[in-house]
Formats: sequence, structure tokens, C-alpha cells
Amino acid sequence: MTSPADDARTAELAERLGAVRARLAAAVAAAGRPAAAVELLVVTKYFPAQDVRRLIALGERAFGESREPEASRKVAEIRAEVTGVAFDMIGSVQTKKAKVVARWARSVHSVDRDKLVVALEAAAAAALDAGDRADPLGVYLQVSLDGDPARGGVVAADLSALADLVVEAPALELRGLMAIAPLDGPRERWMAELADVHERFQETYPQAVGLSAGMSGDMEPAVHYGSTCVRVGTAILGDRPLLSQ
Ligand SMILES: *Cc1c(COP(=O)(O)O)cnc(C)c1O
Repeated sequence: MTSPADDARTAELAERLGAVRARLAAAVAAAGRPAAAVELLVVTKYFPAQDVRRLIALGERAFGESREPEASRKVAEIRAEVTGVAFDMIGSVQTKKAKVVARWARSVHSVDRDKLVVALEAAAAAALDAGDRADPLGVYLQVSLDGDPARGGVVAADLSALADLVVEAPALELRGLMAIAPLDGPRERWMAELADVHERFQETYPQAVGLSAGMSGDMEPAVHYGSTCVRVGTAILGDRPLLSQ
């Protein structure tokens, strides 16, 4: 295995990562927000553990994964080598996968139904008991801005029932809201709507300060409207392979 510090792929990642960091810094500055207000979650789904190593060598410490068993395998490899690296689950979670996800994820960004909350609570409690995790599992509730079930998420009207379940679950910690902007219509409009939903949500759940929003194509409007975590894949790693293992 070549050293991740000095191969051609590392150079490519370094260049794209630099461009994304610059975009993010410019967006944060334009919004008049403090530099540390927005976390960059590098989305490494479909890409090998070696790319995660390269990105760690380039200074990144927070990654997003979306598929099992790919995520569990990759996280185990990295955790065997380094500490202090966080992995979040950003993709939809089948209830039967709650157990494995609760062993590796810092947070799950895509919680959108009662049954999943119940499964994650049981799984996170077991993982805490077993010493597989040290802290409660962070939960972002995924909001559906247009009600399209294909993208996942709950409509704003159903958020508080779900949030109450999370608040009552001792092994879970409500972190905030997440959304994927619908493809139609201006992103600014969706992000503005999400910011409204988040503001109202925080009136009842003041601890839910997190807003996971913005991807490669819409980081800027997301940051303008209060995102605290952008999930960026393609702009850093390149196009994902259409087929994968
Ligand atoms: C894949 C994925 C991303 C990253 O999207 P890019 O457009 O590649 O930056 C962000 N969020 C979720 C939920 C994803 O599944």
C-alpha cells in the first residue's frame, strides 16, 4: 500500500478539498457567521477506506456514510488505526440495521419514523452497555420539504410527535433537523423554508440547534440559511461509481 500522503489521488483530493473549504469559508463569511459555525462532513459513501485515510491525512475528521455493510466495514478499518474520527449515518436506515449503525455512528441524520426511533434507542442502549460507544447516539430528524416519500423524511406537522419520542429515549440525543432540498424550484426557497421550520422547532426543542443541510451543489444557500453541517461528497471525491460492491 502506498503512503496516503503522497500519491496522485491524494493530490486530487487535496485540490478539491481545498476548493470546498474555500467555498465554505466564503459562504460562512458572507453570512456573517463565525468560522466554526458549520461543520464539513465529507461524504465518503461508495469510496474506499483508503480515501478516508487520505482525507484524514489532509486534516478531515468527520465523515458521512450511507450504506450498510459498506459503512461498518470501513469504519472498523479506520478505527483500528486512528482515534478521534467521527462517522455519521446520513442515509436511510432500515430498522433491522439499527443495531450495527448504533455501534459506529456518532449521529444518524435521517431519522424519519417512530419504529426507527424505537429500534435506535434499543440499539444505542445496548451499544452503551457493551462499551461499543461512549456517548448517546445523536439524532437529526429528517424533514420532507415537499412531502415526496421517495426522498424520505417527515412533513413539518409530524416533527414534534417524533421529537418527543427521541427526547424520552435516554440513549438518544436530539441534535436537530436534516433535509435534502427537492430538485425542483430554487434552492434558496427550500432552504429558507427549512430555516423557518427549524426556528419554530427550536422554540419547543431548544437543544436541537443542529441543521444538517447543504451538499455539493447547494452549500452556499444552506449556509446562508443557517446550516450547521454541510454533507459534501461529489465536490471532494468526484463522481460516485454507478455500481459498487
Ligand atoms: C450522498 C449524499 C450527500 C452528498 O451529496 P453530494 O451531492 O455528492 O455532495 C449528502 N447527503 C446525503 C443524505 C447523501 O446521501
